[in-house]
Amino acid sequence: MFDIETIRTDFPILDREIYGQKLIYLDNAATTQKPARVIAKIKEVYEMYNSNIHRSVSKLAATCTGEYENARKIVCEFINAKNTSEIVFTSGTTAAINLLAFAFGEKFVNSGDEIVVCESEHHSNIVPWQLMCERKNAVLKVLPFDDRGDLKTELLDELLTERTRLICVAQATNVLGTVNPLDLIVKKAHEKGVYVLVDGAQGIQHLKTDVTTSDFDFYVFSGHKIYAPTGIGILYGKENLLEQLPPWQGGGDMVKSVSFAKTRYSDLPLKFEAGTSNYVGAIALGEALSYLIYIGMENIHSYEKNLTDYALEKIPSVPGITIYGTSENKVGIASFLIEGIHHADMGEILDKMGIAVRTGRMCADPTVQHFDLTGLVRASWTFYNTKQEIDKLCEGIEKATKILKQD
Ligand code: PLP
Repeated sequence: MFDIETIRTDFPILDREIYGQKLIYLDNAATTQKPARVIAKIKEVYEMYNSNIHRSVSKLAATCTGEYENARKIVCEFINAKNTSEIVFTSGTTAAINLLAFAFGEKFVNSGDEIVVCESEHHSNIVPWQLMCERKNAVLKVLPFDDRGDLKTELLDELLTERTRLICVAQATNVLGTVNPLDLIVKKAHEKGVYVLVDGAQGIQHLKTDVTTSDFDFYVFSGHKIYAPTGIGILYGKENLLEQLPPWQGGGDMVKSVSFAKTRYSDLPLKFEAGTSNYVGAIALGEALSYLIYIGMENIHSYEKNLTDYALEKIPSVPGITIYGTSENKVGIASFLIEGIHHADMGEILDKMGIAVRTGRMCADPTVQHFDLTGLVRASWTFYNTKQEIDKLCEGIEKATKILKQD
């Protein structure tokens, strides 16, 4: 049974006060809070079996390595990859995309080839591709979105050509909250022999994700957006594709043997895990996913849908508000402005009421520029938030508006 009161007690931070008011945490798209059992798992590693993985023969090292590889299995099952060899631990979404931009570029991109990114992407899914295109003398093309925040997929037939190597698209976008039509994009891309990278940073925690059935070629996400610590993330790639890519970084653990004449790389996935990895973070990511499985992803999805339906009906009714991102298909994100009020001022006053939101350009300048703005306020919720908190947000926006309009 999904009991919201019990769920909330699983997250110790939700009990704290900010400026004497109960915290209302609505900045989940930036990072999520951590359940007590994830925090306890980190303590367990350091108190019981901390030892560098894949190296020594000690009992500690064997336990730690076992926990690390078990976490890989949990991730593999969570996204329904075929094999743990397809699951590479990275430090986050950004690192995973940079890894791919280097390795994919080296293997598959030649001068004059094309990469497509969407206008609504986070900078992490734009800039690595710009860098790669500069290095390889390739062309970066952009799939635009309409004023609701839906991708103009009708342009794909023209945009994808025989020179296109890859299309990079978010599962859900971080400013507008749009859930992108991945089935259609994968189908159109694959018909033309184009590979697909899906950025799951805003999708994995809210949407059913099955990389095999969805036929994604590459999929990336960050642990900290799914109730795990910072500094850990995943690059999923189809085995036959990862096999073909050269390593990104060199160092320990990614080699079978090194000599000045010939260095032999490790098999997948270690080929892409140079140096001491964030094994504590990986183990904690496994724990976070186990917690979600214990709560039940279907329960989480249906609770979030109900909350999102409520919030997306309620927030637009605040006087003077404009919502940016009005697609039919959204995750729990409302980016908004109140006429005549600067986003940063609104964010500061809400904070004084104990309500944490995000303000600014949200690492998505092209999205903000689309609407000719300098920034927005973003409220983003998840399965530990409540309708009462959404009500408090709406009251808070109204109160803040009155205060700011008096000045
Ligand atoms: N992609 C999207 C859609 C995001 O929302 C974010 C973070 O907000 C990222 C990529 C980058 O994630 P990280 O900073 O964890 O690497």
